[in-house]
Amino acid sequence: MGAAVTTATRSGHISIAIAGGGLRATSVLRLLSDVENLDVVAVYDTGRSAPAMRLADDLGVFSTTELDELYQMSPLDLVLDLSDDPTVNATLEAQRMSGVIIVSGSAAELVWDLLIAKKRSEEQEKIFVELQVAYDKIRSHERRLQSSKEALEKANEELEGRLAEIFFTHEFFKALTTFSSVDDVTSLIVDGANGILGAEVSAIYLFEQQDWTLRLRASQGRPEEMFRESVPVSETILGAAFRDGFVQQSDVPPGSELAAWSVRPDEVRSQAALPLRSGESIIGVLMIASATFRELTSAERDRLQVIANQSSLALQNALLHEELERLSVTDRLTDLYNHGYLHQRLDEELERAARFGHQLSVIMLDIDDFKQFNDKYGHPKGDVVLRAVSGIVRQNLREIDVAARYGGEEFVIVLPETDLAGAAAVAERIRVSMAEYPHLSVPGGGSVTQTVSLGVATYPQHATTTARLVEAADSAMYEAKRRGKNQVSIAR
Ligand code: GH3
Ligand code: MG
Ligand code: MG
Repeated sequence: MGAAVTTATRSGHISIAIAGGGLRATSVLRLLSDVENLDVVAVYDTGRSAPAMRLADDLGVFSTTELDELYQMSPLDLVLDLSDDPTVNATLEAQRMSGVIIVSGSAAELVWDLLIAKKRSEEQEKIFVELQVAYDKIRSHERRLQSSKEALEKANEELEGRLAEIFFTHEFFKALTTFSSVDDVTSLIVDGANGILGAEVSAIYLFEQQDWTLRLRASQGRPEEMFRESVPVSETILGAAFRDGFVQQSDVPPGSELAAWSVRPDEVRSQAALPLRSGESIIGVLMIASATFRELTSAERDRLQVIANQSSLALQNALLHEELERLSVTDRLTDLYNHGYLHQRLDEELERAARFGHQLSVIMLDIDDFKQFNDKYGHPKGDVVLRAVSGIVRQNLREIDVAARYGGEEFVIVLPETDLAGAAAVAERIRVSMAEYPHLSVPGGGSVTQTVSLGVATYPQHATTTARLVEAADSAMYEAKRRGKNQVSIAR
């Protein structure tokens, strides 16, 4: 050691020597070595192994155990005395050369503090820059994440929609095979069009061979009064689908005849219809519509076709079932005779009455305000009432009498060899039994009863043909309704 190391002076640079090799000197040395326009040119301590001395060696800075060697450094602008040793300070002061500043004691501490502060702010700046870079990275990751998240969400949404649709479709087709009445099947189909395709409005019109019309059988999305009940096969989109197959109008022009299946065609903005086929023949038309623009995608169109195909099968079965029912003689719900059989029997009985010169009476019965009952307690409870009517009617009849469910909630009773007074008495007994019969119990005691109105007509007094006789009983029944219901009325 000992030999002086000279450092070339660079303009604006400050050359510093440090006296004292303690920890504070070490950190100052470390800090100063990072500062651009400061050069530490020498470090002094009495011990070679002092930490600052070793660091100086590592950094390639001149280190010495001879204090006076510091002043041999050239150039030298400043000596920083961090030794905390008064004799070192005294020596430095004594040997000081002109132009060299000695910083010691609290001033040296101040330099140290300043350096630490500078270092910290530098570090902070560095950290800030690093943070900025990291933040940008995170942001771009986030953006990428966001867009893939959005794509994922969209895919998920689509998947969920598809799953719901598959689930609904599955349930739909399962239900189709278990339902057997035409009404059940057609309502299921319009609900299916809603569930599977999200159809705002849907309806099924069935083909009526007798008059070549399409007749409304089930609808969804609008009150029933909004649909025309019957449409000739030459008219509207229903007729178009009947003739030509699938038809779609995604933007119905105002005043279009094709929307005239609706009572308010102006409210139809888009519509599509397709035929329901059974082999070669068309049994009806499935129609969907909306008050807003909608163009079916080819996938949606396929789905509509699948609904139509599957529905046609179920519908065909149900129609067959209905036809068989029509051909059979009894009504399934009440186990009374049905409409068709009644007419057959009535013809026979009237013929017999005519032949033997007997009288014959007919009672027409209709349940009062039955729609209200259904609305209040539900259709199944209404069916319970229908069965009760059947039971009460049966109880009041003789073996030779014929009772039939004539329509939904209308019953006809044929009483052979019975005059008007006898028939009126039977009608009155039925009326009273009905008025007193508890159909449903009400929570908190009491029960729900249900009245009926009856009309009576007698052969040959009121009519001489079966059609006229039934008509006479029917008019009498309406007279009973007009007079306030829950009563028996005699034909005029
Ligand atoms: P009115 O006293 O004038 O006869 O009124 P109403 O409500 O009985 O007559 P309307 O003809 O308006 O309604 C008949 C109702 O009968 C409509 C329908 O809800 C109900 N109905 C018809 N067939 C059935 C059936 O098979 N089951 C049930 N539960 N209800 C039926
Ligand atoms: Mg009625
Ligand atoms: Mg009624």
